[in-house]
Amino acid sequence: MARLQAIRGMNDILPDQTALWQHLEDSFRATVDSFGYREIRFPLIEQTRLFRRSIGEVTDIVEKEMYSFEDSGGDHISLRPEGTAGCVRAAEQHGLLYNRQQRLWYQGAMFRRERPQKGRYRQFHQFGVEAFGMAGPDIDAEVIELSAAYWRRLGLGGKLKLELNNIGSAEDRKRYGGALGEYLLSRADEIDAAARSRIHSNPFRVLDSKHPGTRKVADEAPAMAEYLSPESVAHYAALKELLRAAGIRHIENPSLVRGLDYYNYCVFEWTTDALGAQGAVCGGGRYDGLVAQLGGRPTPAAGFAIGIERLALLLETLDRIPPEAQFRADVCLVVLGPATTVAQELARRLREAFPARSVVCQCGGGKYAQQVKRAYDLRADVLVVMEAGEGGPPAEVKLRSLDERFEPRMVTRDQCVAAVGELLSLSPPARQDL
Ligand code: AMP
Repeated sequence: MARLQAIRGMNDILPDQTALWQHLEDSFRATVDSFGYREIRFPLIEQTRLFRRSIGEVTDIVEKEMYSFEDSGGDHISLRPEGTAGCVRAAEQHGLLYNRQQRLWYQGAMFRRERPQKGRYRQFHQFGVEAFGMAGPDIDAEVIELSAAYWRRLGLGGKLKLELNNIGSAEDRKRYGGALGEYLLSRADEIDAAARSRIHSNPFRVLDSKHPGTRKVADEAPAMAEYLSPESVAHYAALKELLRAAGIRHIENPSLVRGLDYYNYCVFEWTTDALGAQGAVCGGGRYDGLVAQLGGRPTPAAGFAIGIERLALLLETLDRIPPEAQFRADVCLVVLGPATTVAQELARRLREAFPARSVVCQCGGGKYAQQVKRAYDLRADVLVVMEAGEGGPPAEVKLRSLDERFEPRMVTRDQCVAAVGELLSLSPPARQDL
C-alpha cells in the first residue's frame, strides 16, 4: 500500500514548531485580554448558505475555494473558509448583539481550496477579532491599534506596513459599481476572460487583478474616491486622525478591495515584503451590513483576521523567535542501573516542588552518553544523574548542566530538591504562562 500522506496544502504542525505556535497564541491572548475582548468558539462546519450569503456569491472563496458537501442527511454544509460569518451567526443566534456592544476574538483552522504555495495553504489558521455595536471610527482605530500592539509584543514593531483604503458605504459602492461596470464594458476587449465575466456580477474584484492587460485597465479606471459620500469621507478622515494620534503610520492603497463582499468604509491590511507573494499577514475592516444581511437587526461591526502560518514564517524569516518560543525541559533525570523507582519518586518530588517547571525522567535505560544526548535534544537546563550499582539506589546524585553554566556537584537525594531549586532560580521557567 502506498504510504499515507497528508492532503496537499494541509500541514502537520510538528513538536519543534508548536512552542512557537503556543508563543503566538499566548501573546495574542495577552493582547486581546489587555483590550477587554472575550473569546468565542464556533463550529468548523456551517451551512453552506451562511458563507454564500455573507462572503458573496461572486468571490473566489465561494465560487471555487470552499470545501462543500452534502452530508448523509442531505444537508449542504461547508468547512469554514473564514471566521467572521460563523462569529456573526453564533452571536446573532444567541442574542449577544441585542442592544449590546460586544468585543470578541477567536482562533482556529480555516479551509480554502487554493493552489498551495509558501504562505498559502488549504488548511490554515487565523486569529480574529470582531467588535459589534459601535458605529464610529473609534472602534476601527481600536482594532487596528490592537493588531499593532500584538506586533509590538512579538517584536515586530515597525516590521509590518499598514495599508488602508476607503471603499465607501453600501450606497457609494452601488453608484461606483455602476460607473466602474460601464467603464470596464467600454474596455472589455483589453481584459482577461475571468475579469470580463465579473463586469456585471462583481466589478470591484477586477481592480485587484494581477493579469497585466487587466491591471492596466484597472489602473486607469475611475477612482472610488470620486464616488464617496461626505459621511464616508468624514469617517475615514476621523479614523486617520485617530491613527495619527496613536502613532500608527499607514499608507493609502486605492486598489485594496479585499476578497470578501461584506466590507464598507475602511478596509486594511498589514503587509510585509519579507514573505514573497503572500505578503498579507492580517486583513480586516468594517462590515456594517453583514448582521442585517444574515437576518439580524442592523448592527455596526469591525474586525480583522491574522494568518498564523504567515506570522510564524515571518518570525522565522526575520530571525525574531525568542528563547521562550523554543521548547526546553527544565530538569532531566539520567537514570543508570536499576534505579527506576527512586528516580521516578525523585522526579515526582521535583514536580510537586516546582509545578511550573518541566521535569523529564528518562525511561527505557540506555548508556550515559545516549541519555545525555536525549537531554541535549530536550535542551534541558539541569541534569540530575542517578547511578544505581550493586548496593541499590545511590545516596547521592550528581547535578550538572549541559553548557557549563554551573560547576557539577554531588548532593544527597534529600538535598536534591533544594539544590535543583537554587539552580533553577538562575533561569526563568521554560513555559512562562504556567
Ligand atoms: P482573509 O480572511 O482572506 O481576509 O485573510 C486574512 C489573513 O489570513 C490573510 O492576511 C492571511 O494572512 C491569512 N490567509 C488567508 N488565506 C490564507 C491561506 N490560504 N493560507 C494561509 N494564510 C491565509
